[in-house]
Amino acid sequence: MAKKKKGRRGLRALLFALLGLALAVFINFIPTFRLKTPSMRELPGKHAVVHYEREEDAARDVFALAEAQGGDLKEQLGIEGDKAVNIYLYDRQSTLQTKKYGFAAALLGLDWYIGDNVGDNALLVSPGGEYAVHGYEDVRQAALHEMVHAYNYHINPRMPYWIDNGVAGWLSGQTPNMYWERMRLPSLKDTRVFGLLSPVRFARFDGYAFSYMYIKYLADTYGWDAVRTLLHTGDYPAAFGVGEEAIYENWANYMAQSYGVTGN
Ligand SMILES: [Zn+2]
Repeated sequence: MAKKKKGRRGLRALLFALLGLALAVFINFIPTFRLKTPSMRELPGKHAVVHYEREEDAARDVFALAEAQGGDLKEQLGIEGDKAVNIYLYDRQSTLQTKKYGFAAALLGLDWYIGDNVGDNALLVSPGGEYAVHGYEDVRQAALHEMVHAYNYHINPRMPYWIDNGVAGWLSGQTPNMYWERMRLPSLKDTRVFGLLSPVRFARFDGYAFSYMYIKYLADTYGWDAVRTLLHTGDYPAAFGVGEEAIYENWANYMAQSYGVTGN
């Protein structure tokens, strides 16, 4: 009898713990329910609708860039139609960081984390703010990077993170400036990173720089049309005539020979 009671008490404690956990998760994600913040105004255009808080000059600057480049990006990605990308500009980095991963993200101290996409919406800090590792131009250019993510989402919502970011970096001209000879090449497994923690894992193996070089290699070797085929089909042999493993090996050799990158 006593044993049974104890068992029931244990069950109740477990139930409370689970409820508490569910509540904590729910509270964490509250900021993600709405991308817009209360004070936001907007600049509507053909390729982008820029939503901004107080920094209007910076917003106009991002808007001008998005309007000037949006058509070209769409053409390169093979996207038809006139839908404008919503770009949300946040004056504070902590606000931006909570919009996809909730309050927890702002607590992780990811000073490099200044932009993201949620589906086909682009999120970015305002270039007008001050950030630890990014200047005005960097941040402004990142608007194009995030727009590419928004377009890629249209092409394939489950596009691999590696490809998605490589193309975003390449098309927005974010040429990495690295000491390649001191760097280790990500493994094939690294390049297949996926899931909620992708941005953190990706940054650890310099995924942004390496994925850019991967797309650069593919574009230089096979031509941009082939890369576009990969984006739309996810089919390596259809795009390049060989499979993903072979492409990875060839790229690894290219990185070693041309840039002195050590293997993994
Ligand atoms: Zn990205």
